[in-house]
Amino acid sequence: MSFIETRGNDGVRAKEVEFSYAILNPIASHGGLYIPKELPALGEEFMSSHIDKNYKELAFDILSTFNVDIDAEDLNEALNLYDKFDDENNPAPVVKVKDDLFVNEQYHGPTRAFKDMALQPFGSVLSSIAKKRGEKYLILAATSGDTGPAALNTFKNKEGIQVACLYPNGGTSDVQRLQMVTEDGKNLKVLGINGNFDDAQNALKRLLDSDTFKATLAEKGINLSAANSVNFGRIIFQIVYHFWSYLELLRQNEVKMGEKIYLVVPSGNFGNALGGYYARKMGLPIEKILITSNENNILTSWINEGSYNLNDKELIMTKSPAMDILKSSNIERIMFDMFGADRTRALMEDLNTKNEFQLTASEMAQIQEIFSATYSDDTYGKQTIKKYLDSGYLMEPHTATCIKAYEDLKEKNLKCVIYSTAEWTKFSPTVLNALKEDNISYSDKEALDKISNDFDAKVPEQIQELFSADIIHNTIIDIEDLEKEIVNFI
Ligand SMILES: *Cc1c(COP(=O)(O)O)cnc(C)c1O
Repeated sequence: MSFIETRGNDGVRAKEVEFSYAILNPIASHGGLYIPKELPALGEEFMSSHIDKNYKELAFDILSTFNVDIDAEDLNEALNLYDKFDDENNPAPVVKVKDDLFVNEQYHGPTRAFKDMALQPFGSVLSSIAKKRGEKYLILAATSGDTGPAALNTFKNKEGIQVACLYPNGGTSDVQRLQMVTEDGKNLKVLGINGNFDDAQNALKRLLDSDTFKATLAEKGINLSAANSVNFGRIIFQIVYHFWSYLELLRQNEVKMGEKIYLVVPSGNFGNALGGYYARKMGLPIEKILITSNENNILTSWINEGSYNLNDKELIMTKSPAMDILKSSNIERIMFDMFGADRTRALMEDLNTKNEFQLTASEMAQIQEIFSATYSDDTYGKQTIKKYLDSGYLMEPHTATCIKAYEDLKEKNLKCVIYSTAEWTKFSPTVLNALKEDNISYSDKEALDKISNDFDAKVPEQIQELFSADIIHNTIIDIEDLEKEIVNFI
């Protein structure tokens, strides 16, 4: 299958590229993104023939229908990474919470957040391509907490790949920081910077523009790539688990083949939701995809009002930090799919030059046919965590935003799958504040111990081990020293 570009072609790049090219060079003409030229149709027949298949087999078959130019052997090696999840045959279990409410738990991987679902196999695929071509890649990542650990974990000791990961010193949870600074691999560099996440991300962008930096990379024969969800190599693995949700409901006798369901996706960069959108287009019976946000509710305005305006929004630090984002990269792929390349390019140009764009009423209606949106604040989140634990289900703050959509946006009496994107152990101080209804600032270690004792919840080994692991990376730098540090590393 070939891949085309969301903002049209610039006459310099190839008009159509293969999957491997799109993932090694994720930025397309005019700053656009790569998308598949067409989507395979996977209807009821496909579903019926996959009822008894395990997750890896399902993923292999879905990627095969995309005809990706990856050898079967390399693809299998990538999918075998799901063996590191709690249950290798069911890496993303679907758990019943109420008659019409199910949770797809996406956090059973090595770093206990949903980024593992895609970054584990993606990292493996990327390194096998690099190895075959004899090429060297530097992956740069700025993280507010979940992408960093997942990227380091998947690329550790991979031939031909080096990773430099920047995090805001003091801006992540203890668990997230320890997951990064204790990750041992000679191809990994983890740098704390004096500044917040925006500073880290901006510093990275400046570095990518720096002529001396580019010259140094060229001299050493190193290419640059990105591991964030602008990369279609991540998106393709995110289509799979939506099919898995439906197959699980079929297996549990909760739906009949063809019966529609709702999906609820807690969204930031919109990669997870985009995977659901493609799954729906490929034939999965999805009534609607319900999008939830925290107080950084720009996606709510985009869907409900057709307006995307960065001028009147300021980034707010919330207790669901993985969704503290205002520039959501993957909505571009939705707009391309609905409105075409010319219109998408014009809208994205408006966003670049005026910091905003406005959709027409009919464009907005098109979006609303498939998506509904709402948001909630931290108070709602904490109340929800308490309420659900009282009836036996422990969730963390990102997952709690899904309940708002389940309560407010589900119009029909259909089953609803919400996506739980992190384990409670990654955000334990907030969860403990919710359960105890206090505002004490607990350390992660304190909160983990208290919750596991008082509420009988298990802390997995991957998290427990962090507190006694050796610190490998202890460099904290000022932003001015970034280029020097990374050049020394490579
Ligand atoms: C990354 C992340 C999200 C947002 O997912 P997108 O695909 O970027 O929309 C939500 N919750 C958690 C815990 C995350 O790590």
